[in-house]
Amino acid sequence: MKITFPHMGTAYIPFRALIAGLGHEAITAPPCTQRTLNLGTRHAPESACLPLKINIGNYLEAAEQGAEAIIMAGGVGPCRFGFYAYVQQEILRDIGCGLEMIILEPPASGWRPLLARLKYLTQGVNAAQISRALRLTWAKLVACDRLEQLSLDIRAYELYKGSTTRALQEAHRQVDRADSVAGVRRAVQEGTAKLQSVPQDRQRPVLTMGVVGEIYTILEPFVNFRLEEQLGEMGVVVRRRLWLSDWILHHLILSSFRKQREAQLFRWAKPYLQHFVGGHGLESVAHSIQLAHGGVDGIVHILPFTCMPEIVAQSILPLVSRDYQLPILTMVVDEHTGIAGVRTRLEAFVDLLASRRAEANSHSRGRKSLAPAATYSS
Ligand code: SF4
Repeated sequence: MKITFPHMGTAYIPFRALIAGLGHEAITAPPCTQRTLNLGTRHAPESACLPLKINIGNYLEAAEQGAEAIIMAGGVGPCRFGFYAYVQQEILRDIGCGLEMIILEPPASGWRPLLARLKYLTQGVNAAQISRALRLTWAKLVACDRLEQLSLDIRAYELYKGSTTRALQEAHRQVDRADSVAGVRRAVQEGTAKLQSVPQDRQRPVLTMGVVGEIYTILEPFVNFRLEEQLGEMGVVVRRRLWLSDWILHHLILSSFRKQREAQLFRWAKPYLQHFVGGHGLESVAHSIQLAHGGVDGIVHILPFTCMPEIVAQSILPLVSRDYQLPILTMVVDEHTGIAGVRTRLEAFVDLLASRRAEANSHSRGRKSLAPAATYSS
């Protein structure tokens, strides 16, 4: 079967390894572009969240390349993600696109539906092949996240703009080409060495900024206007705590242990939020507090327009900002958002943080007081 999947950052690297490992042909849609977005917005309801629209565009572009089926994750909980794949299925049916939707949902109400779909996907391959495919997929997933994490530490110090991004892209290509777990390990070692050899000025003063928000918007650079790259190139070390490997581990694989993980997040989010609000709304609050304790200069909270869990977080973060004296910039993105507006807001925010840092430094030398924290909304 020719199977495709939605784009989400570098997720295409492990996903296509998994599909190929299960004996299917992986059809990777072209990277997300304005055309992808236009296709999605043409066919999705206007009020649907942005990731749903872009996914539709991915599917239609993959269908042009011969895809026959889609693997899509499902969800549970109060946000729209629980219905997401089913809505997409209906949209594709309405426009006469004959792609089959294979939905992999966390086993909230029993393992049977998930196991039936996995059985369907693994027809014709034996247990050893499945085990190898899963191990390779997991190795690639973790490798992509590790390399990206390292790049966030290096980019702010690079001497030549874009050199960290180029080294990261080459490292990701090597992970993509690897056809064994040992090969992925080698790719990570070489990629790490390549990233560490990027010419840097480690004496340069940098800012540290946290990024929190809706996971798709954080991970897909087309949607967030290459947020982390832009910040890094402005001299900002980016800290984030949401990674795709964690999401897959906790959302799809260990969802039965979700309560334990939530309990930890609730401890951090107390006293601001004591309910699961769907998506990553709870994480946005808890992670902001963790980042505040970690000493970041500021936080960017990014969400798609109308994202329900993040609207809850958005209403709480001004209190976190006030209590921790930490500036938080909220950025809402949709199909009308433009790169110039995003860049202007980021530059202004970085300037604000730099002036706060300068004032804090002079205050510590006994001259001026720290500027008040501020929360900005786009
Ligand atoms: S988390 Fe937000 S963007 Fe994602 S499906 Fe839920 S409401 Fe939509």
